[in-house]
Amino acid sequence: MGKKWITKNGYIIQQVLDSNNPLLVSNKTTSILIDTGSRKKWMKLSDKINCILSNKLKLSAVILTHTHHDHVQNARSFKDTFKLDIIVHKSEAEYLKDGGSIYITSNNEKYIKNYEPVMWDIQTDDKYDLCNYDLDAYILHTPGHSTGSVSIIIDNEIAIVGDALSGLDNKPFKRTLKKVSEDIKSSWDKLLNLKCLLYLPAHRSHRYQALEYKDFNELYRSYLTSIKS
Ligand SMILES: [Zn+2]
Ligand SMILES: [Zn+2]
Repeated sequence: MGKKWITKNGYIIQQVLDSNNPLLVSNKTTSILIDTGSRKKWMKLSDKINCILSNKLKLSAVILTHTHHDHVQNARSFKDTFKLDIIVHKSEAEYLKDGGSIYITSNNEKYIKNYEPVMWDIQTDDKYDLCNYDLDAYILHTPGHSTGSVSIIIDNEIAIVGDALSGLDNKPFKRTLKKVSEDIKSSWDKLLNLKCLLYLPAHRSHRYQALEYKDFNELYRSYLTSIKS
């Protein structure tokens, strides 16, 4: 069974399989999916989601935290199957139409095409309110890992951060491009200032599946100390 978190307004955030990619956010009537996992998971994912939704819930939207293949490879299948809205940050919307994305490494940036193109329905900017989906939630631009990386803040309590925290515990500024590093740092500041109860990164490999505010703060402080030395 996948993990589940419930916020003060009773919104359910749950793992569809056994990781935080994708996560399903539901109120009483509607659900939105954050990210879509990799292609090989499609059959399992769609079965499981149909089972969770049963007849009571409608899957209204897919929010992409960014356009790397491990997050978007099923976006096209979800759109075709569930007739939902695809939501992406405006700086990566064109990539989505092309089935590609930019990958940033220590010394270069590379554009790679590796998923089925899909048309977006909604482009977000600095902040996008999800009240149209009957949720007390919003999408916040948290660039750095990629230019259009976003985090989704649910009920002012839980932040779903995609890959925005990747590198937090292994000194990313030393191995990534300077301009990217500055973006990452200001995104971490932004997320930390929200003082959420929990921060959920997409990948378990980043040590934490659910990071508490105090742990996030502690990792950030130790990171700041480490770059000074
Ligand atoms: Zn990524
Ligand atoms: Zn990823």
